[in-house]
Amino acid sequence: MIKPRNMMLLGLVLLILSPLVLPSYQITLLNYIGLYALVVLGLVLLTGVGGMTSFGQAAFVGLGAYTTAYLTTTQQLPEWLAWTAGSPWIALVFGLLLTAVVALLLGALTLKLSGHYLPLGTIAWGISLYYLFGTLSSMGGHTGVSGLPSLQLFGISLDKGEKIFYLIWAAVTGAILISRNLLNSREGRAIRALKGGQLMAESMGVNTFRSKMAVFLISALFAGLSGWLYAHTQRFVNPTPFGLSMGIDYLFMALIGGVGSVWGALLGAGVLTMLKQWLQDLLPILLGSDGQYESIVFGLLIVFMMQRAPGGLWSLVIRLIPARYQADTRLVVNDAAADLPRRPLPAQGTLVLEAMNVTRRFGGLVANNKMNLQLHAGEVLALIGPNGAGKSTMFNQLSSVDTPTEGEVRFLGQSLKGKNSRAVASMGMSRTFQHVKLLPAMSALENVALGAHMRGNQGVISASLHLEREEEQRLLKEAKHQLERVGLGAYLYEEAGSLALGQQRILEIARALCADPCVLLLDEPAAGLRFQEKQALSDLIKKLKTEGIAILLVEHDMDFVMGLVDRIVVMEFGEKIAEGLPEEIQTNPAVLEAYLGGAE
Ligand code: ADP
Ligand code: MG
Repeated sequence: MIKPRNMMLLGLVLLILSPLVLPSYQITLLNYIGLYALVVLGLVLLTGVGGMTSFGQAAFVGLGAYTTAYLTTTQQLPEWLAWTAGSPWIALVFGLLLTAVVALLLGALTLKLSGHYLPLGTIAWGISLYYLFGTLSSMGGHTGVSGLPSLQLFGISLDKGEKIFYLIWAAVTGAILISRNLLNSREGRAIRALKGGQLMAESMGVNTFRSKMAVFLISALFAGLSGWLYAHTQRFVNPTPFGLSMGIDYLFMALIGGVGSVWGALLGAGVLTMLKQWLQDLLPILLGSDGQYESIVFGLLIVFMMQRAPGGLWSLVIRLIPARYQADTRLVVNDAAADLPRRPLPAQGTLVLEAMNVTRRFGGLVANNKMNLQLHAGEVLALIGPNGAGKSTMFNQLSSVDTPTEGEVRFLGQSLKGKNSRAVASMGMSRTFQHVKLLPAMSALENVALGAHMRGNQGVISASLHLEREEEQRLLKEAKHQLERVGLGAYLYEEAGSLALGQQRILEIARALCADPCVLLLDEPAAGLRFQEKQALSDLIKKLKTEGIAILLVEHDMDFVMGLVDRIVVMEFGEKIAEGLPEEIQTNPAVLEAYLGGAE
């Protein structure tokens, strides 16, 4: 039987043999496919995984290409660069450094933009860099420069397509390995979490801006490397291949191939390059050589493919492969991995979280008005009240997702003024969301492992090289343990999106527990749960309480609340109208009128 790993080896062997058997015209095409695939791989990470659309990747290709063109063809380099002596390899280092600096600057300017503004921003700098290349008079303006040297490697001159072929495809293979390693890591999960929304990712302790920057930088470097290789393959550069229209083509390749997977990049680059070539060869024969029919047909075909395979061609290919030949992508959990260190919990009864006169106004609306509440270690406190009473707003003030207009929140004796939700999460507050925020296409195990983000510290580089396996094993073991703890041990490898809503809520609790919290905020945890699931949830909360975790929950289900919690705070119109033991609340006339009456 052919295992996926053997398939990859077979592919590699075919690749190595192809220059020996294929005509050089085909090799040139394969070289281009490799060069494009490098850029598209970056887009898979940036757009497919990170959710950021960039039309500007071609400009980064240009930076890599133009740096080496400048350094290797200029006769009289300025003094401080003279030592580089026209070496393409030193030019590669310079090119990547320049790409990194430009990417960091552009990233700082554009990555904070949201919605349509980010893609528009990438179009803007894509165009500016293109015109910059065209105005560099020392680089031949729009005509470009020729006479770039061919690369020398181990004394071999890579002066023919069949030779540089190996370097290009070695770079592609390296980029694929790096991308795959990165995606299966703690930092990779953080990048994937960007699609689940900033709010959720930050609450799990992910520095979303840093994650965006990291993936933006990696995608720019892949593009810069492609540009360097391109320049020495062509041995000629001009601005045309680095313009906006090429930037759009790269995006097409990513979308057509399948922007969600590393192999989609390869497929997309291959299919679009071949398609263009065939159309160029074929259409003039069929339709005559006047008119740009190939561009028109090409555009129509792209629309057609997007219609037919919105997830990209790779997802179609995957569906056609019989299950037994498919790669087993399940992450192996090593039960022998060491346990992660635990946070010392405050002694039972210690005051851990306190709201003092918290007021939050939205324009004229007072969503929280002089709210006071206290939460102690080992206590379960319920926050109840009719819809719109301000409970979720209160949650946001307590977890620093939002800042009170007036008043103060204190957590473990510290004021939360000026602290963001990430800082609060790292202090030990963890939460679930009223509207479940999971990554539906990711396994339950990986979703939960995201909760342990703050308990690891290995960065992007060690992740790319898979030097962080020991820590990763510990994080995954913790995630598995928490899933088993909440009773989802049988669903480790299910896609989170395929679970029932009730299970998704429980999954969020496991994710929150993975952060090893001392305070747990649960926003309507029992909504959508069946009777037995509610029982199980109730048991779990009681168990967490005896361990010394402080739990604050918002809940509508009165039966669920009454048998479970120690104290209740009742809100209406942003204000606290009652506080006390469940039995007191049940008979409080103001509550009966406001809450029970209001909720029917
Ligand atoms: P609950 O969770 O108790 O149902 P919320 O805290 O969600 O209530 O909402 C309380 C009130 O504050 C509602 O009237 C809601 O419309 C308003 N509100 C909540 N968030 C915002 C916001 N970001 N901007 C303006 N109004 C808001
Ligand atoms: Mg709410």
